[in-house]
Amino acid sequence: MALRVLEKIQRVIRYELNLEGSSEIAMPMLHPASLWKKSGRWSEMGPELMRLTDRRGSDYCLGPTHEEVITSLVADEIQSFRNLPVRLYQIDRKFRDEIRPRFGLIRAREFWMKDLYSFDKTPSDAVAWYNVMLKSYSNILNHLGLRHVRALADTGAIGGSLSHELHVISEIGEDNIVHCNGCGYAANDEKAVGRLRLPERTALPDASNHSNAVGGVNNLIGKIHDVFGDSRIQIVGLRFKRYQADTTSKAIAASSPIDLQGVALLPEGRSINTIKLPKPEAPDSQAGEWEACKVDSTFTIDGLKVFLDQDAGLSEFSVPQAWDVAGGQFCLIEQGDHCLDCSGTLNVDKGIEVGHAFYLGTKYSEKFGCTYKDEYNKKSYVEMGCYGLGVSRILSAMIENNHDARGLLLPEIVAPYLCCIVPLGINKDQIAQKLLDVADVLHARLSDAVPNLDQELVVDDRTSLGAGKKLADSELVGIPIRIILGNDMLQIWSEDTDAISRKLQKGLSLEVVIGREKCSLTLEELEIKLGESMRALI
Ligand SMILES: [Zn+2]
Repeated sequence: MALRVLEKIQRVIRYELNLEGSSEIAMPMLHPASLWKKSGRWSEMGPELMRLTDRRGSDYCLGPTHEEVITSLVADEIQSFRNLPVRLYQIDRKFRDEIRPRFGLIRAREFWMKDLYSFDKTPSDAVAWYNVMLKSYSNILNHLGLRHVRALADTGAIGGSLSHELHVISEIGEDNIVHCNGCGYAANDEKAVGRLRLPERTALPDASNHSNAVGGVNNLIGKIHDVFGDSRIQIVGLRFKRYQADTTSKAIAASSPIDLQGVALLPEGRSINTIKLPKPEAPDSQAGEWEACKVDSTFTIDGLKVFLDQDAGLSEFSVPQAWDVAGGQFCLIEQGDHCLDCSGTLNVDKGIEVGHAFYLGTKYSEKFGCTYKDEYNKKSYVEMGCYGLGVSRILSAMIENNHDARGLLLPEIVAPYLCCIVPLGINKDQIAQKLLDVADVLHARLSDAVPNLDQELVVDDRTSLGAGKKLADSELVGIPIRIILGNDMLQIWSEDTDAISRKLQKGLSLEVVIGREKCSLTLEELEIKLGESMRALI
């Protein structure tokens, strides 16, 4: 059943990609290390790359992505501008040695992915195609009924200069996605910007109350209140933690000397976004991250590093010379904050990242000598893009977003089958067998009446199961249309199947469940409904 759903998701993806003139190919899963060494990613990728060694001691990896393979392939095929553009994709299994596999299909070591690679003459051609792909992705997710947002993203390990992430809104998402209800602005909450919605501030209380605090922490906090002339701020302590010397791991070094501390001053009630804090300038300090902590007695007033949030409502005056003050937006955006691009309100929802688009430029074509000759015989590097869609993640999002306590409520376009005939009845007096006979004739009749329905119509032929179990199963697996054959259908049973067929009149009333709705349809109405549904499938 799950395989059929997976295949139907793939069918929708193929339909949209082929519509835009892309071609499907098959690429190897097993990649020689030499290709990855050529791109430099054999060392860059770190432990997430599934590496293995053959009997001769040669290194290989299982492909998590295919820029290396496809670029070296295409480099051999392209000579002239006449060979461009090229758009190739595959839908296949990918591998990644996840440190924490979770949620079944969301973060697995082996997963289905669609990856498409584009090869164009010029940056403007490549960007035009980039926009076509973003539109295709929206079409695919709309076909699947998945609410989604598109967020501008970091280019990360894949490299390049333009990148978007596609997130399906879902409660089980790993990321917090900030998105505007007005203009479509969207970003991961670590990067999101906005105008904070803050309560009206009342008149300034007398800050001098705080300056008489003595010693240690109180002294520092009092000093901050004094310097900024306001006590209605939140003071968050910060420590800069370096990563372990092994640069492939982002584990925080356990014994790292904590020589960098600071405080962030935020509006009351808001949370710190440590990702937005500028990192220390010393070159050896770049590999690490700020962590929020309590201000304790190890914090010293001298040489204090202060991150002053722009919305904290503070003005800098009489800042001690030894303090290093940096301004910016350091709060996490929250539900109800305002969009910077329009007058809209920002929403924060959980999202599952299901897709990624990268404009790669010539990063890989330079490394693999992927060039073409233009009209004047001048050699140039091909402009590339890569576009991934997590097929197993989409499956997971479909399941999470389309179920209730009784089972799946999948849209018809990806349901394992469109329709199921469920003959109820126990084996006593051959009732189950007789109803199964009726079901088989009905199956043949509907298959004749509706083109291609035989691919989408099944009979639950398990005669040993009780009615309750069969009905529960039919709800559980997410078959949208169920035809229930109860004891009243025994009246059309006969030894002779032709006789049953003759009794299946257009006006015969049938008990049908569509989704969770029970209804009574005539055979003719049912045929019309199934015909409409079949025509809407891709
Ligand atoms: Zn907006």
